[in-house]
Amino acid sequence: MTGMQLDQSANVATTATISTSALSETRTVDSTASVAVSRARAALPAWSARSVANRSAIIERFRALVFDDRDAIARTVSEETGKPLAESLIADLSTALDGARFLTRVAQGALAPKKMRSDTLAAWRKVITVHHDPFGVIAIVSPWNYPFFFPAMHSMTALIAGNTVVLKPSEHTPRSADHIARLLTRVGLPDGVFTVLQGDGAMGAALVASPVDKVMFTGSERTGRQIATVCAPRFVPVSLELGGSDAAIVLEDANVDITASGILWGRFTNAGQTCAAVKRVVAVGTVHDKLVARLISQVNSLTVDAPAGSTMRDVGPLITTAQRTLLMAQLDDAIAQGATVAVRRETLANGASEADSRHAPLVVLTNVTPSMRVWHDETFGPILVVVRAASDDDAITLANDSRYGLSASVWSQDRKRADRVGAKLVAGSIALNDAVITAGLAEVPHGGVRASGIGRVHGVEGLLECVRTRTVVDDQLPMLRQPWWFGYGADSAPRVDAYLRLTHGRSMLTKLSGIAGTIRMVLFPSRPL
Ligand code: NAD
Repeated sequence: MTGMQLDQSANVATTATISTSALSETRTVDSTASVAVSRARAALPAWSARSVANRSAIIERFRALVFDDRDAIARTVSEETGKPLAESLIADLSTALDGARFLTRVAQGALAPKKMRSDTLAAWRKVITVHHDPFGVIAIVSPWNYPFFFPAMHSMTALIAGNTVVLKPSEHTPRSADHIARLLTRVGLPDGVFTVLQGDGAMGAALVASPVDKVMFTGSERTGRQIATVCAPRFVPVSLELGGSDAAIVLEDANVDITASGILWGRFTNAGQTCAAVKRVVAVGTVHDKLVARLISQVNSLTVDAPAGSTMRDVGPLITTAQRTLLMAQLDDAIAQGATVAVRRETLANGASEADSRHAPLVVLTNVTPSMRVWHDETFGPILVVVRAASDDDAITLANDSRYGLSASVWSQDRKRADRVGAKLVAGSIALNDAVITAGLAEVPHGGVRASGIGRVHGVEGLLECVRTRTVVDDQLPMLRQPWWFGYGADSAPRVDAYLRLTHGRSMLTKLSGIAGTIRMVLFPSRPL
């Protein structure tokens, strides 16, 4: 093996982490991915044959181990991403624990075969059973911003539904994902059922090009488009959880203090690197100036200069300097086009120089126009845009002026009015008087429209995206022919017409006129073959 070696110490005999010590040599990456997929394929029959109750019990044991190890996992997440420890605990650990509990509660009911009868009168003898079979081998490719929650939640969902999983976590957060493999090994997951494939985008590309049965991707729009393109010719289904440029509409009656606090957190949590963060605020009428004033004072109150790792720090660094460079280019573009910097708070820690820092300033921008990148691109960092709307309808138009549609929020003391405005927003989920929360609640189907992706994760809907239906239509009287089979005669069409009159006639008289012909059609075929 050249260029890249398997890390044998990590490549344990059961649930495995396959690491790459040097990321090169396309061929080696390809073969590593295909070995992992082959192992997952081999493990599939036994794993999918287990009962949902058995798989739920394993996920329940995993939950207990995650709880016991929460401190170590949260520290790893904070070390790898730079987010405050409190954020790792609430946004990565609490969410994953809740997700495990949710899945173990709902999986048996949601995945149980569903029996039904048909509304089609001619099919009165049929008993229909919809089974929920696992897809097979699911490839999960995940990002770095919630490096424990997203891969853990998606893996648990796929596993409980009976799939085997090959997870390619972000190259920026490998140790967070290794915790998942370590704990799933401890709960006794059989060999090949779950494999972590460490590596960069090349490894992700090799994995999605492998013979997998479904791809669950969470990450950027650009990568999502590449993955969709690779999967489409093979008809491999994909779920794509991509970026967003979520709007927060603030109605004139909103409580400015509470709203500003919520938007402050909704934008600057995780240093602004959240898919469902508030990226564009649309404030109606006079509330605009009050809100901006409050946001300025709150940004200035955040603790941003405590040493890295301090429990007092509110906002940490960005994930990479490249991310900062991109963000600063978006900011420069806005300022060059006339945006106003309402507040700019530097977050450089410990005297680090601007050039080598991953720390980005916290910025609130006003006078933003649609031609600016901060309006029509996703901003993945601590830049908040606030624009003014003339009315509720104007606010809705501005909020929907995006090629994304992940989630959105509406802020008002009148919850009914907020709900009415929210109903007109083009987004996968709407929070009223809160933000980001829709991405973190286990019960809430999460996913977007437009360039924010396709498919849903979380909720029962997310669980059902990990199975395909196999429907059995069983005839209870197999000794009888079906009325629509061959052997048509002169009276066949009149009988079918009688059947149509009975089942869809617009008046009672028409319906009654179809009874006799329908009985003949169902019980006495014209010319049985
Ligand atoms: P990214 O697309 O750069 O990387 C995501 C993952 O894809 C990584 O594991 C990466 O190694 C892998 N990858 C890169 N190129 C690949 C390829 N050609 N084929 C297969 N895999 C490849 O995204 P990121 O920077 O890690 O994450 C940030 C983005 O993710 C933001 O746009 C954010 O909005 C989005 N995101 C969305 C959600 C959601 O639920 N909708 C959640 C979190 C993050």
